[in-house]
Amino acid sequence: MAIIIFKEKFMVYHLIGAILIITGIILSSKKKMSKDLTPEQKHILFEEGTEQPGSSSLNYEKREGDYFCVGCGTKLFESNTKYESGSGWPSFFQALPNVFETKIDTLIGSPRTEYHCKKCGGHHGHIFDDGPEPTKKRYCNNGACLIFKPKD
Ligand SMILES: [Zn+2]
Repeated sequence: MAIIIFKEKFMVYHLIGAILIITGIILSSKKKMSKDLTPEQKHILFEEGTEQPGSSSLNYEKREGDYFCVGCGTKLFESNTKYESGSGWPSFFQALPNVFETKIDTLIGSPRTEYHCKKCGGHHGHIFDDGPEPTKKRYCNNGACLIFKPKD
């Protein structure tokens, strides 16, 4: 009996220890993530902000490569879906499957479809129906929230 109680206590202590370690890892990675973001990036991602049109160097990015979420590193777009919309924001006619969730926002009065990263919840931009074929969609994305990695 004493041995069983001892064993149970031993296991509980181990379990608590493991939970504490996992919690610590999650907290420190979250801290690291938001620490590396600029105030503008934090504002766009977590307060649904919008960068000034034409302010992102990614507007002029024409190389082959992939676009990743600055908040969590998830791959969001491929360069072959990027196009010049003339809006002043990097624009794509298609996102990778299952990377975004959408909701309707009425921040400017009329309803718009806002999209955010499924993994970190960061707001990236809005989807409009004036894009080119084949989707006719325009993902109007804040360049400050994207990391471009050219194909090597
Ligand atoms: Zn993300």
